[in-house]
Amino acid sequence: MAVGKVWLVGAGPGDPGLLTLKGKEVLRDADTVVYDALIGKEILKFIPDNAKKIFAGKRSGNHYLKQDETNRILLNEALQGKKVVRLKGGDPFVFGRGGEELELLKENNVPFEVVPGVTSAFAVPAYNGIPVTHRDFCSSVHVITGHKKAGSLDSIDFEALVRTKGTLVFLMGVSALSDICEGLLKAGMDKDTPAAVLSRGTTARQKRISGTVSDISGKCKEADIPTPAVIIVGKVCSLSEDFSWYEKLPLAGTRVLLTRPKESQSVLSKMLREKGAEVIESPTIGTEPLKDDREIVNAINDIKRDNYEWLIFTSPAGVRIFFDKLFSLGEDIRILSGICIAVIGRGTSKALLERGIRADFIPSKYDGETLGKELNSHLSGGEKVLIARARIGNNELIRELSKDKDIFITDLAIYDTVYEKTVEDVDFDLAVFTSASTVKGFVGDDTDRDYSYVRAICIGKQTAGEAERYGMQTRTASEATLESLVEEIIKAANK
Ligand code: SAH
Repeated sequence: MAVGKVWLVGAGPGDPGLLTLKGKEVLRDADTVVYDALIGKEILKFIPDNAKKIFAGKRSGNHYLKQDETNRILLNEALQGKKVVRLKGGDPFVFGRGGEELELLKENNVPFEVVPGVTSAFAVPAYNGIPVTHRDFCSSVHVITGHKKAGSLDSIDFEALVRTKGTLVFLMGVSALSDICEGLLKAGMDKDTPAAVLSRGTTARQKRISGTVSDISGKCKEADIPTPAVIIVGKVCSLSEDFSWYEKLPLAGTRVLLTRPKESQSVLSKMLREKGAEVIESPTIGTEPLKDDREIVNAINDIKRDNYEWLIFTSPAGVRIFFDKLFSLGEDIRILSGICIAVIGRGTSKALLERGIRADFIPSKYDGETLGKELNSHLSGGEKVLIARARIGNNELIRELSKDKDIFITDLAIYDTVYEKTVEDVDFDLAVFTSASTVKGFVGDDTDRDYSYVRAICIGKQTAGEAERYGMQTRTASEATLESLVEEIIKAANK
């Protein structure tokens, strides 16, 4: 069997946007991924579903896999011909034992590549508005491990460090913080030298404690600062007052859970990330085209026979699935030339436009009830209308559409809404629901639990109604658009 290959990949310090393009590419191709504890969860989502995932995490004092076990796993997987990605926090060669992991591969002639990563040593200060070098303050930056060997920091030459007058960045140093500061002061560092401890950098839980080398340790004890954290010492720390930017974004510090189906998450995720949110994509529902497609095929044949005046889509998924079917039958959009098309809102309209068709009708408010009502007043009676949507669609659309007029409606189920695994043990500040079924999916079978802790941001009345049934605290977007949803999320986050 041909030997595989190992890619040693740096995942960056937490924010998934800081994974490199190359890192993402090799991850997408991986057969096996061996990853550490500090890898951002959203990054793990780039791993293909069928790849083998092996957790090699080490948390201080609690070793899950010994280093030589990890080395062996990499070797064995590669010898089986696999594309193996060894995913490590930050940069793999900055206190990441990346070098050690390559030794055994080298001995066994297993090919490897290294994909450098954004190191926490520089990125975490950057997210706190601290440039690690600045011409006015220093001419060097030093990255030092604060990890105690056999309980002592003897290996650090504090005198040498102080003499450099450079910026000092300590990784793995929180538990030794007081010893580090003491070492620097004893070696002659000015007691007023600015210092900062930067915890959980580049994530919504980012926190900064600022002080001087003489008082930072006491301040951190008081604040009980969580790890991981970097310690930075030097005049550049004073710049964070002017340059801090991350915490000023409207959604900084907010972890938002998105529950909508995978294929429709990316737009909203991007909008929220741009505002500084940490986004957790955890779809609670998905869509599955119906296995039995006879009804759809019949409906498409009816369209060809000019049997309908109107066709209605109520979701982008409906558009996608309908057109996939149409194309797979060897047809194209020309069969729709004689039919008017109504959509529920902008997202659906966009999905339609991507397939070369402009919607004839969009209601003023993006919900089923308004669509039904407004389209009804547009119709003269006697029209035949085909609705292509989920098997369980809302009733208001049909009720309003057929009010006081003879409208012949075919409610065509083209897909099923399937519930994904429920969201367990995810730490989030706000949960976003874009349909009643995303709420149902979130709750799953666990209907009796207390959901009053969930701050639910809902796209519309119906969705909010569903969330309230489970006792969630709800807020509703003023309009059923993503923009308005984002506005509501910002309001909720700043309350
Ligand atoms: N190879 C990694 C460092 C591994 S050592 C890199 O290049 O970033 C682990 C140490 O990195 C932690 O003890 C902490 O000091 C630092 N660290 C990693 N991620 C961090 C984060 N998000 N915020 C603050 N410090 C972090």
